[in-house]
Amino acid sequence: MSARILDGTATGRAICEELRGAVEALARRGVRPGLGVVLVGDDPASAVYVGSKTRACEQLGMLSETRRMAATATTDEVAAVVEEYNRRPDIHGVLVQLPLPPQVDATRVLDLVDPAKDVDGFHPENVGRLVQKRARFVPCTPAGIMELLARHEIPVAGRRAVVIGRSDIVGKPMALLLMHADATVTVCHSRTGDLPAVCREADILVAAMGRAGFVRAGHVKPGAVVIDVGMNRVLDPQQARDLLVPERFAEFERKGHALVGDVHAPSVREVASALTPVPGGVGPLTIALLLKNTVRAAAAAVPD
Ligand code: NAP
Repeated sequence: MSARILDGTATGRAICEELRGAVEALARRGVRPGLGVVLVGDDPASAVYVGSKTRACEQLGMLSETRRMAATATTDEVAAVVEEYNRRPDIHGVLVQLPLPPQVDATRVLDLVDPAKDVDGFHPENVGRLVQKRARFVPCTPAGIMELLARHEIPVAGRRAVVIGRSDIVGKPMALLLMHADATVTVCHSRTGDLPAVCREADILVAAMGRAGFVRAGHVKPGAVVIDVGMNRVLDPQQARDLLVPERFAEFERKGHALVGDVHAPSVREVASALTPVPGGVGPLTIALLLKNTVRAAAAAVPD
């Protein structure tokens, strides 16, 4: 069997195109949805993610403003930028790019984001609403995965789902969304016993652990749908030869690095019925859902 590849780039593009009408309708009412980003330090991956988010906003005619701060910024300095974005009527969504440097109190900063502008869905008020199945903003990565499943007509209700990872950003909200969609959900983490056996129970397996190529064919029930959230940079040629499907190894040799997921694609694609690629799977969906949340925040801020 060779798994169907679930194209997140195409799905993300379709979501963005659907938003165009809403952005134009807001423009007719004099409103341009605006995203305010705080980027602290010089982590190259964070800079790339913020660049992608900014470009996507601009392509849709939305405002995007990024405040770049030194790696030595204090909690108070970062908090002051968040408070400024909270006050500004032209900024409808506030995004604090993670990770923050260790001296910055991330919890304090994220708790300061106005819940009505919390387009990442990390504020405790929005997390609580998600738990109670009356969500306002859902974290973008798991929300994007639900869109991907729906748009590929992959049934969720009544199926067994296993999520590897229990982070606030991916694992926990992913498990809640799958449960709300009537899957029977198991959440795994670094202390889970016999992880491969638990994973093999899954009809839908979501890998969000940050371990390059960890999930192998032995973790996957034949015919399962596998969603690969991981984004790991590989530099070692031997590791790349093991982790990359042959058609991507030439790209690695050219560039000297490659992005790989948490799933060992060469073996898993022979067992799964469907698989998200890395890159071009969950990443573009995350960006599309960020735009969707920002447009919703802007629409909610306009009186009827
Ligand atoms: P995280 O906060 O580091 O959480 C990782 C989770 O995986 C933890 O719950 C950890 O368990 C679990 N884990 C680690 N090693 C494990 C093992 N050997 N067996 C079982 N569970 C294990 O990471 P995250 O923020 O959720 O991100 C996960 C991955 O997704 C990363 O590669 C990240 O770059 C990627 N990501 C991608 C996108 C996207 O848009 N594509 C968005 C967000 C994140 P414990 O809780 O026990 O430590």
